[in-house]
Amino acid sequence: MTAGLLIHEIYASVQGESSFVGLPCTFIRTTGCNLRCRWCDTPDAFGGGERMARELVLERALAFGTPLVEVTGGEPLLQPEVLPLMKELCDAGRTVLVETSGERDISGIDPRVHRIVDLKAPGSNECHRNRYENLAHLTSRDELKFVLADRVDYEWMRELIMDRHLEQTGATLLASPVHGELDPKELVAWILEDGLPVRFQVQIHKYIWGAEATGV
Ligand code: SF4
Repeated sequence: MTAGLLIHEIYASVQGESSFVGLPCTFIRTTGCNLRCRWCDTPDAFGGGERMARELVLERALAFGTPLVEVTGGEPLLQPEVLPLMKELCDAGRTVLVETSGERDISGIDPRVHRIVDLKAPGSNECHRNRYENLAHLTSRDELKFVLADRVDYEWMRELIMDRHLEQTGATLLASPVHGELDPKELVAWILEDGLPVRFQVQIHKYIWGAEATGV
């Protein structure tokens, strides 16, 4: 028996974001986050949760039977047992995604895992927490996600992409509007105007179930 993980929920749905969008996916949502993004849509996962043995988390996640599994939060990389859990999910033949704020070191993650790493824009109020050292570890398996609240955030992303040549990391660059704040049409227009090498996305679960729905 291991020390275990603090788990907020485990459930199956369709993937709402990333280049895996729309695929059936099992989500393992851990409890706890050390950031407080202004527009966070999962504040319920900041506290509470159930302590579970890693073996049980694995068993429950595999029982849903989806080929795709995402470990998310909160911030999953705050819990050391997440690393062996992701390895075990890969060993079980699953395609594994991890969604992280980008504040934690991503270098110790099993190389089979697709890492979806945020870079927090100024409008999140957590821009100062970005761990830019993570950029050196990105590969074509990974995705770098920007959630943008306004034109200031967009221009910050644009400068970062150009100054740091982020397309050369090989990672897919994802640009999303903050739901209900930045008009998706505006963001698309800016991307096209500048010819940025990003993939525009919206969180499809918010269109299917509504912005306030959780556990979907
Ligand atoms: S890192 Fe994610 S879970 Fe944490 S506050 Fe920001 S959006 Fe919410």
